[in-house]
Amino acid sequence: MEASGGSVLLNANESPWPAVMGGTGALNRYPDPQPAELVRRLAALYEVRPEQLLVGRGSDEAIDLLVRAFCRAGEDAVVISPPTFGMYAVSAGIQGATIIEIPLRGDFSLDVDGLLARAPPALKILFVCSPNNPTGSLVSLATIEQLAIAFAERALIVVDEAYIEFAGTASASTLLPRHENLVVLRTLSKAHALAAARIGSLLAHASIIELLRRILPAYPLPAPCVDAGLAALAPASLAATRVRVSSLVQARERLGEALRLVAGVRDVWPSAANFLLVRCTDSASLYGRLLSAGVVVRDVSRYWALSGCLRITVGSDIDHDRLLSALAQQEAVA
Ligand code: PMP
Repeated sequence: MEASGGSVLLNANESPWPAVMGGTGALNRYPDPQPAELVRRLAALYEVRPEQLLVGRGSDEAIDLLVRAFCRAGEDAVVISPPTFGMYAVSAGIQGATIIEIPLRGDFSLDVDGLLARAPPALKILFVCSPNNPTGSLVSLATIEQLAIAFAERALIVVDEAYIEFAGTASASTLLPRHENLVVLRTLSKAHALAAARIGSLLAHASIIELLRRILPAYPLPAPCVDAGLAALAPASLAATRVRVSSLVQARERLGEALRLVAGVRDVWPSAANFLLVRCTDSASLYGRLLSAGVVVRDVSRYWALSGCLRITVGSDIDHDRLLSALAQQEAVA
């Protein structure tokens, strides 16, 4: 792609034969490292400038890049607030960064006082997941701003907004112009139904984007995935996504109500995401019964403070019928 503009491409040891077609085109040429049209449309969607956006293979890759770029093995630390998404600790562990856990409070809100008091001098990245996986709880922009100010010049505040579309609240990206140590992660995997295409965006100050580009693999996004991303970002697709997201949010509330009536379900927490966290009297047997009815949910009972809990993704009406009828059967058996 270096020689874009030329028509005789003898610079990148590619095949001259467009033998296999994929998506909307031939696959014999390497893709653009940061496809300009995809970057432009993602930046428009997330309301940032293109130079504030890095696109890569899902938020997972962004998490990994951040830890590799900012944490020196054996010296620097990240802070996470369990129970939360597991990838922060996985990436930090692979990099050899110290992982400091400052758990959420009992109501699943962020322990801001704890973060301010206990963050170590070696802190380089503070991960904030909002809405949080697996609790579904949101962190307010005021809290995020408070952290960004408290850790200015010291550490990055990385706000993972994989599920923000289901929350109906403003993105922390609105704070980017005021805070150079803020990073926001967005993805097309959830609300845009594109998990298999692996398209995640990292939003940050242009200097952070420039730095991360230096360690980003040369061609992170396969061309068929870029095409899929462009299709998802066409105006008609975005309009359809908005409709689907709002109906999923309604379905989440209906499913929550239905689950609250199920015997053996003790708590259903309010959720700002596309899943519900449910505490059961006996999560292991409920999980097993659902599985034998062909319904797979996530057992999160081993997460910090989540004993007896299952995480249930909001699916289609048919999925919920299957789930609720399997739960009704287990009630009859119990
Ligand atoms: N962040 C959170 C909070 C998630 O739950 C997930 C996926 N389950 C991701 C990031 C990774 O998403 P992606 O598909 O963009 O890599």
